[in-house]
Amino acid sequence: MVYKYFSITFLSLIFLLGCTQPRYSRTEFVLGTNCTITIFEDRKESVLVEQALINAFDRLREIDNLMSVNLPASDISRINASAGIEPVRVNKDVFNLITNSFICYFYSSGAFNPAIGPIVSLWDIDGSNPRVPLQQEIDAALPLTKFNDIEFDYDTYSIFLKKQGMSLDLGAIAKGYAADETAVILLNAGIKRAIIDLGGNVIVLGQNPRKKPWRVGIQDPNGQPGDYIRIINVTVDQYYTSIVTSGGYQRYFEQDGIRYHHIFSPADGYPVNNELLSVTIISPNSMYADAYSTAVFVLGYEKGLEMVNNMPLTEAVFVFKDGSVRTTNRVELITP
Ligand code: AMP
Ligand code: MG
Repeated sequence: MVYKYFSITFLSLIFLLGCTQPRYSRTEFVLGTNCTITIFEDRKESVLVEQALINAFDRLREIDNLMSVNLPASDISRINASAGIEPVRVNKDVFNLITNSFICYFYSSGAFNPAIGPIVSLWDIDGSNPRVPLQQEIDAALPLTKFNDIEFDYDTYSIFLKKQGMSLDLGAIAKGYAADETAVILLNAGIKRAIIDLGGNVIVLGQNPRKKPWRVGIQDPNGQPGDYIRIINVTVDQYYTSIVTSGGYQRYFEQDGIRYHHIFSPADGYPVNNELLSVTIISPNSMYADAYSTAVFVLGYEKGLEMVNNMPLTEAVFVFKDGSVRTTNRVELITP
């Protein structure tokens, strides 16, 4: 049995052709990925900008420490370790994110399910031993992924996973939440133009330095990182816009010539297998863009499109296995 493990973290990239305004850029490895914040400001604002960058990365590390499943002391790890035993009092931000994830669960008819932890652990796609689980292991794990078995106590900010073996996984929403938090820090610092790229979870803030729409490349799922299948124009109506892509090409392993990726159907516990290669969501809120790009990928084109069309200010780009690309009505594609 041969395992091949690939990891591609580039999801999309911003083009800034001919931009002359000074940039301040910093990249750090946080939230399990390379995070880059680029700020476009005049030189005289440099102290303010440097401080905003420091504050933004401090916040990203704080969120990582609270939400990472890889850190035993994080709030999420503590909730998971106490599954079936007792409720765990958590930080207010963590509580809010988990309650928000309920909204995403509800609107996606359960396609986005943060209680999917036991299935994610079984497949171990991101771990050192990815494998195809036995059917009986999947059958045993699925009853432990019921969102209704999560108890919220709004008075004490406590979370209780009612059954032993349950676990939360916020991997499909946390980077979006972190991107929103970063954007708020930059806006509060008076920053007018910036790009936040948390491993492909992107926010464009304010107006492009060229005073034109931002140009965002959608990764070609069959290409090399940085090969774009389409480029879209993104205008920012208010404050910022987020662009987030989910796709089976991003993290996977191969066994006996079959590719197994990291986005699971909560219905059967297997990697989603439908007509799509990737889904990009464009939204004024990165947390929702993150959760819904995962959810729409799970739902497939028809149900996913219906969901996006019912959401205000939300657009989508769908890349299909046959190489075709479809978008919702207001997405502006750039012809190369
Ligand atoms: P994303 O890259 O944002 O699409 O999120 C994928 C990650 O979210 C995976 O690596 C898992 O940790 C987790 N995940 C997988 N399937 C689901 C699902 N159906 N609902 C919620 N989270 C999921
Ligand atoms: Mg996501």
